Amino acid sequence: MRVVIVGAGIGGLALACGLTRDGHQVRVLEKADGLRLDGAAVTIFSNGAAAADGLGVPLDGLGGRVETLSFGTPDGREFARADLRELHRRTGYAVATVPRRAILERFADALPAGTIAFGREVTDVETPAADAPAADVVVGADGHRSAVRRAVLGDEPAAPNGWTSWQGLTKDVADLGTHARCLIGPQGLCGLMPAGDGLLQWWFDVGTDRPEAGGTVGWLRDRFRGYADPVPDLLDHLTEADVQEYRHVTHRVLDRWGTGSTTLLGDAAHAFPPSQAQGANQALEDAWLLRRALAAGPGNLRSYERIRARRVRRISRLATSEVTNRPPSTAARLAGRLLTPRLLARLQLAAIRRASSVLNDDRPE
Ligand SMILES: Cc1cc2nc3c(=O)[nH]c(=O)nc-3n(C[C@H](O)[C@H](O)[C@H](O)COP(=O)(O)OP(=O)(O)OC[C@H]3O[C@@H](n4cnc5c(N)ncnc54)[C@H](O)[C@@H]3O)c2cc1C
Repeated sequence: MRVVIVGAGIGGLALACGLTRDGHQVRVLEKADGLRLDGAAVTIFSNGAAAADGLGVPLDGLGGRVETLSFGTPDGREFARADLRELHRRTGYAVATVPRRAILERFADALPAGTIAFGREVTDVETPAADAPAADVVVGADGHRSAVRRAVLGDEPAAPNGWTSWQGLTKDVADLGTHARCLIGPQGLCGLMPAGDGLLQWWFDVGTDRPEAGGTVGWLRDRFRGYADPVPDLLDHLTEADVQEYRHVTHRVLDRWGTGSTTLLGDAAHAFPPSQAQGANQALEDAWLLRRALAAGPGNLRSYERIRARRVRRISRLATSEVTNRPPSTAARLAGRLLTPRLLARLQLAAIRRASSVLNDDRPE
């Protein structure tokens, strides 16, 4: 089949890798003049790693391995810890925090030369590539402001939920080994993850309050200066240029994502906040299942959408509630202390499994 994919993000490129391996003729149209390599890192959980592997381009060796993840109060007192090696043991796929750049480059390098056409903003979904024969299938992988979604489903922009991540990747500020930490208090959540090559992925999640223009670093210092080490050190190192703003937005997850031979994938179909670290993973899951759906021709698109919608909705609701960004109740802290790190990891894996097509071997038909 001839497949046109709109958008060269993680989801679009992953799908392109899988489809070219199946012998389809694939064209990726990207509006930017090159890969959009900015953004910080994303955490690839076992489901995302399994999906990438299933698409023929494993993400092995990228980023920083994350073996344990702890949650604590701002003074550093830990109230829960997950042993993420349990996910590796049970699925065969480890957890890693990987700069977006590294993922995009790995996928792009695995594609035949000329697959991606840059500087091609798609506005007309009927004939997305006027210089090529008509496509059998068009996939909108064009992110949360998707033009394809607007054209086929009507304008349903992803809505902000008030929260923002102020985030970045900084070298040589703290060595966490393979341990990731989240400190949660009334001022917001500070997350710290090792992202490989001495990089620290950090983010400050804050609801509604915003800094004055140009004064983000001072505002973050005022707000988070009482948080435990290494937060004060990190804040001392930051300049305005280090901080990226990432607003949390959410789509209503519809049962149907397209019409005829057009469908959606990733943030175009179901943008949700990064607080469950599943955005990139769910885009990889979509790509994995869509490849499987297209193996039997374009007839299974609605089935692909139904299966994915059912799975994504669960994680989207959880992420949109921002429950993990809010200070936990006394009961929740107590429960966290009672659960062993392995048990907590198993609960996390159970939640991921419910949202996963690849770990459940879903089949569209
Ligand atoms: C620049 C950028 C930075 C990001 N930073 C982070 C981050 O730090 N942390 C995090 O958790 N998530 C981040 N994300 C989001 C995360 O990458 C996604 O949630 C996840 O990877 C799923 O992505 P996707 O492929 O569905 O869409 P996206 O990653 O949004 O990719 C969509 C692609 O489509 C292209 N596009 C859009 N409209 C059109 C059009 N009309 N025609 C052609 N091409 C079009 C865009 O330029 C983009 O390359 C970022 C996304 C982007 C684009």
